[in-house]
Amino acid sequence: MVQSLYDSVQVLPGVGPKRQQALAELDVLTIEDLLTYFPFRYEDLSIQDPSQVEDQQKVTFKGIVAADPTIVRFGRQKVRVNFRLLIGSESVMVTFFNQPWIKSQVQVERELIVYGRWDAKRRSLTGIKIIVSESTNEYKAVYPASKKIRQATIQQLVKDAFKQYGSLINDIVPSDLISKYRLLHRKQMIESLHFPADPVLVKNARRTAKFEEFLEFQIGLQWMKQRDKSSDGIPLDYDDNVIKDFIRQLPFPLTSAQLRVTKEILRDMNNPVHMNRLLQGDVGSGKTVVAAIAMYAAVTAGKQAVLMAPTEILAEQHANNLARFFKGTGVTVGLLVGGTRKKVRDALLEKVNAGLVNIVVGTHALIQGDVEFKDLGLVITDEQHRFGVKQRKMLREKGQNPDTLAMTATPIPRTLAITTYGEMDVSIIDQLPSGRKTIKTTWLKGGEWNKVLGFMLKEFKKGHQAFVVTPLIEESEAMDLQNATALFEDLQKDFAPEFKVALLHGRMTSEEKDQIMSDFKDGKFQGLVSTTVIEVGVDVPNATVMVIQDADRFGLAQLHQLRGRVGRGDAQAFCILVADPKSQTGRERMQIMVETNDGFEISEADLKMRGQGDIFGKQQSGTPIFKVGDPVVDIGALQTAQLEASKIVNISNWQKISKYQNLASFVTKGLKINQDLD
Ligand code: ADP
Ligand code: MG
Repeated sequence: MVQSLYDSVQVLPGVGPKRQQALAELDVLTIEDLLTYFPFRYEDLSIQDPSQVEDQQKVTFKGIVAADPTIVRFGRQKVRVNFRLLIGSESVMVTFFNQPWIKSQVQVERELIVYGRWDAKRRSLTGIKIIVSESTNEYKAVYPASKKIRQATIQQLVKDAFKQYGSLINDIVPSDLISKYRLLHRKQMIESLHFPADPVLVKNARRTAKFEEFLEFQIGLQWMKQRDKSSDGIPLDYDDNVIKDFIRQLPFPLTSAQLRVTKEILRDMNNPVHMNRLLQGDVGSGKTVVAAIAMYAAVTAGKQAVLMAPTEILAEQHANNLARFFKGTGVTVGLLVGGTRKKVRDALLEKVNAGLVNIVVGTHALIQGDVEFKDLGLVITDEQHRFGVKQRKMLREKGQNPDTLAMTATPIPRTLAITTYGEMDVSIIDQLPSGRKTIKTTWLKGGEWNKVLGFMLKEFKKGHQAFVVTPLIEESEAMDLQNATALFEDLQKDFAPEFKVALLHGRMTSEEKDQIMSDFKDGKFQGLVSTTVIEVGVDVPNATVMVIQDADRFGLAQLHQLRGRVGRGDAQAFCILVADPKSQTGRERMQIMVETNDGFEISEADLKMRGQGDIFGKQQSGTPIFKVGDPVVDIGALQTAQLEASKIVNISNWQKISKYQNLASFVTKGLKINQDLD
């Protein structure tokens, strides 16, 4: 049988169905996966001198056994092996606990290499293992293991895989780039990472591995983008003047940022290539009206448009706003949500199918099979990260390669957006409508709760409303819910009988939640205690206070999102963080929130504090995108890879050129795997 790096790990000795399953859970399916399952750290097994090492370090000593070991039994079934090791002029006491078999390896006058934890005060070593002389590597790889598969097993499997398949490892990075950036060849890179011999080589190998994965990633993105662009989109032939008139009659003038992104979007729509654009803008920056203009352009060019939002209440809110914007233009808007009654739904679908309704707004009820458009030209998703990639794709497939616009308020730092969302063009609204007052943020300690109550009362008396948010963390859900309920009951008493308070939490059905939100919007009560389920994007202009309890338990991005729920009306809005953070980073997070209202600044700070994990981590894509590189720390390498990738992708038929062939086939394999993700 011809061997290939894509052979299943099953071919390795000792890998049966059980082990295969355990490896699969670590995303290791093939030999290639195993060979790129890199260690996350190394144990230093280089031999050290007791006078040079610090207390409690793990160290390796080499010496001569001074006398035969003594064996001490203690407690129930416990045993200790003691012996003295002569290292130069120093005599060190070595103790192994519960490894009686060690004794057979320890004889007087024998030379021994021992690895263990050093106690500097006692000049003694708690032994971990005796190193047999044939293991020559000074550094040992340590892998992320799991309960089902042990460290030693992974080490052995990697060793076997490299022995059997090492000769098949070819370079992926083109040779000219290997010399330009002084990288290692792939085989050497893989060998050095798993069987480290020298720290300099390991460093270089890591640098190589990062560059390789960034290059593959960038080639993939840019290639896909190119393919997308060359596939036929439909140029939407709207009339510039009609659009200008529409913008002129809006209830407010657009900000210059809104004008800029509108131009970018309209230009894309008018192009024969199909639009794939991400519209980013902080909460309250006014993305909806931009979406409305884009939809208006599509409709006046004879097409239909659809806008999908993550919740019913948001969809309704959008439908109402659009109806306001389109008043007197003749553009018709339909609303389709899960709760839409069958009769209404049937009638609507018929009209949509006949092209009599221009714009449909809704929730994922929109992606059902019987929703058919006559001619869908533009697809917009709001809060796009709330939808699965599949859902977005299903919506797109309701038209023929329609232009797509994804909106998000989750700010991604500029540099990162450009380099990692390479398959999408990005438009950013980096400005709030003028006259918007910045939200005043204060940080109070838990002991100052009375101040919070006093403040809320003052705002209630002015006719305003307040959110009180309490954390809800999965592992302590029951307790958190109790806290929220207790807080709600306290507040009810505190403000009765004059003002009313309600409770909203994640165990309610979405109808119950929607009902409470719309009652709140209608002013039926003044205070709303909520676990973190406050629906994104919901506009309650009359709410001026956002109180966040135990604010240090929230991430920065979440705090910023929550704060964005207020300050949507004309009155001054306030955010009160109540927290007694125990950690330095907790205090820093509070400080950042008090100091800035700028979502981009906050997300930069957030990234620096947390690393890539949370933004590109499991939450969004299922697995982290990068195995070795970190797009934040290694942004320089990522940008270099981006540049080199664009040079390659712009060569016509580059994938046929021999030095790029391996890169191309590698990336194609990756894309195939990710295809249904797209
Ligand atoms: P988001 O970007 O968070 O979705 P919205 O589109 O909901 O923001 O806009 C927030 C509020 O600001 C809405 O009430 C909207 O009507 C208003 N708005 C949007 N653009 C402007 C503008 N240029 N001037 C004044 N108000 C605006
Ligand atoms: Mg919005």
